[in-house]
Amino acid sequence: MARDARGVTPQSQDFSAWYNEIVLRAELVDRGPVRGTMVIRPYGYRIWELLQADLDRRIKQTGHVNAYFPLLIPQSYLQREAEHVAGFAPELAVVTHAGGRELEEPLIVRPTSETVIGEMMAKWISSHRDLPMLLNQWANVVRWEMRPRMFLRTTEFLWQEGHTAHADEPDAMRETLLALGLYAEVCAEMAAMPVVTGEKTPGERFPGARRTYTLEGMMRDGRALQAGTSHYMGTNFAEVFDIRYATPSGELAHCHTTSWGMSSRLIGGVIMTHGDDKGLVLPPRLAPHQVVIVPIARGEEAERVLASARELADRLVRAGIRTHLDDRPQLSPGFKFNDWEMRGVPIRLELGPRDLAAGTALMSDRLAERKSPVPLASLEARLTDELGMFQGLLLRRATEFRDRRTVTVHEWEEFAAAVATGWARALHCGRTACEDDIKAATAATPRVVPAAGEPDEGACVRCGMPSVYGRRVLFGRAY
Ligand SMILES: [Zn+2]
Repeated sequence: MARDARGVTPQSQDFSAWYNEIVLRAELVDRGPVRGTMVIRPYGYRIWELLQADLDRRIKQTGHVNAYFPLLIPQSYLQREAEHVAGFAPELAVVTHAGGRELEEPLIVRPTSETVIGEMMAKWISSHRDLPMLLNQWANVVRWEMRPRMFLRTTEFLWQEGHTAHADEPDAMRETLLALGLYAEVCAEMAAMPVVTGEKTPGERFPGARRTYTLEGMMRDGRALQAGTSHYMGTNFAEVFDIRYATPSGELAHCHTTSWGMSSRLIGGVIMTHGDDKGLVLPPRLAPHQVVIVPIARGEEAERVLASARELADRLVRAGIRTHLDDRPQLSPGFKFNDWEMRGVPIRLELGPRDLAAGTALMSDRLAERKSPVPLASLEARLTDELGMFQGLLLRRATEFRDRRTVTVHEWEEFAAAVATGWARALHCGRTACEDDIKAATAATPRVVPAAGEPDEGACVRCGMPSVYGRRVLFGRAY
């Protein structure tokens, strides 16, 4: 297999191999001892922290409060909601022994927390004055994975799960769409990932949900990645967990609940939205190091250049720019350039004796071919601008890429061609059997009924029966 100078398989040759190599080489993760688990290394974990802090701020700003519920859930809780248990059964890790003996009731390692939170909501909610109840939890969950992929599908992953209870459907639906909107903002503003938002078709709904909403991003191999989901549960969980409240007139009514989640999977989305054959390309807002300084000098000048580089790094850090000085001795500048390029650092500064004499540094960004000298005196302001522009450039580039590879199709032949390299906008009959047939023929599934889609109807692209969504559905192969 042909490889480039640094030994990474090119995306065009084998995207999956490229991804698997990059996550390890960039030191984002390592394999855990149990199959399907991942160790998130400091460089990868920093990306998660940046994402987590931003999303947490948005969640709190919209009136939600954080709580923490137990990892272990009684098996009987999951069995109460029939669809829920059927959906999760194949992925459950079950604890049967503890404290040296067999347990009377097996315990489930949480795959999600609707049940345990539902049980508590039933206890905490009694009156309409207790509503809405807006809870969020940051936690790890376990879903046994048969085909693990780092960040995308791991047996254990990190996420937040919002769980809310409301007096009626309109309020719960507002909440469901509010969470979807928060996620779309995080994708665009932090991850520079354009997403299409809208509802899932019934066949793709969360087990136990009445309606499921999603955000879908296109990766550089044309596949879709679900970046988060938000569910309106109706009164399904309220009925089985007895979450009821007294209305102002004193009658008892079931709450309408929602749940919504975004996970460490989004980091996989960032890697596959922006990365190239040289490695990662990180959006500045999620980059552990936004700027790396590489001092270039030998012999007597080395100490002087290094001292100036330290001073510069301190200045930039004080200005709020995440700056890293690569002062590793014995490594050549060329090696360092390649290393930080592979690890996706947005901006690199080179500093040598001649630059210092001229009062400049040599700046290059992760996508540009050229380097340009920038004055040291006003570097804070210049870099803040450059980082903002780079963030914007990534979002535009990803949006153009997605739009180029999204095709409105009318015939089945066009459909099959479109989903081989990207997404197809097609009319669909809404039947699960027809979705299954499409999946068997092309590996594509309905990703989302776009909220912003224009009204359209006609014959199903596959079976010719009348379309049902009043607009076109986006189909694609997915992670
Ligand atoms: Zn059909």
